[in-house]
Amino acid sequence: SGPLDKEQMQGLRGVREFLKVRTSYDVLPLSFRLVVLDNNLLIKKSLNILIQNGIVSAPLWDSQNSAFAGLLTSTDFINVIQYYCQFPDEIAHIDQFRLSSLRDIERAIGVLPLETVSVHPMRPLYEACRRMLKTRARRIPLVDRDDETGREMVVSVITQYRILKFIAVNNEQYTMLLKKPVRELGLGTYKDLATATMGSSVLDVIHLMVKYNISAVPIIDENNKVLNLFEAVDVIPCIKGGAYDELSATVGEALSRRAEEFGGIYTCNEDDRLDAIFDTIRKSRVHRLIVVDDDNRLKGIISLSDILKYVLLYGEEDDDIRGN
Ligand code: ATP
Repeated sequence: SGPLDKEQMQGLRGVREFLKVRTSYDVLPLSFRLVVLDNNLLIKKSLNILIQNGIVSAPLWDSQNSAFAGLLTSTDFINVIQYYCQFPDEIAHIDQFRLSSLRDIERAIGVLPLETVSVHPMRPLYEACRRMLKTRARRIPLVDRDDETGREMVVSVITQYRILKFIAVNNEQYTMLLKKPVRELGLGTYKDLATATMGSSVLDVIHLMVKYNISAVPIIDENNKVLNLFEAVDVIPCIKGGAYDELSATVGEALSRRAEEFGGIYTCNEDDRLDAIFDTIRKSRVHRLIVVDDDNRLKGIISLSDILKYVLLYGEEDDDIRGN
């Protein structure tokens, strides 16, 4: 191994040490807002609340038992859509479903419930990362217990993006050592990519996301050039107000309904180095990178979990949590 490998390992070790001495609590900003939804709320209403607050996920609260009841995410809405596809005659009932029926919906369509993992905010951040990779959770609620009442309290939710951003902002001295290009690291997925075109229906894209267990599908033209990216969160405005019949609309139509503040999509080249990717994460709200060639043709996709997995596990002995 050359000097580049040595530096790379030094950088990775630095970041790992950092994650071991910081807690999930450290990732949180000094002041923040947390929207928690009552489990008894109509699903329909929860959609409006998410949209109004400009968020895509929220912890659920069971007020009867005063307990944390899981995390509402775009996967839940995709499950409702699958339910609608399997039981189209039930549309009148779907309108009356409450958040507490999400588990019944999972059972009805035969998907396994997402593991509701949570971590204590004062545990090492490294532990939260390992747990994220192990369970494939994209976000983890931080749950504490009130000393006096013994009740659970949801403090906040940390996401892969927040963790990577926290690493990028606080570890420039280590991330600058990560000089190996994406191509050499084999970072991301390059074979058997799920893609769609502007003319595909929203429903087709949702089925792809379910089949591949992914949350974004690149939209390409007939020459394999990248035009856009359809994300699981783009589903939310599509079904606002119970407009399930609009899912037959095309991707092109759906993307034109994106909010004004949409941050855009991020691309990179196979020759880009990991330090450059950390620069992008430091500066922008990136959720995944589409790998393109010089002609903007699709080569691959790098998700935040690919990056987190590499940063945490590359070169480690412990193979069982690698999840491959
Ligand atoms: P995120 O976790 O940031 O929401 P995601 O759902 O797109 O992103 P993951 O679930 O982290 O991605 O990805 C699982 C694996 O699937 C990753 O290794 C990623 O490279 C790969 N992947 C992501 N998108 C696609 C796609 N459109 N086609 C094929 N593989 C993909």
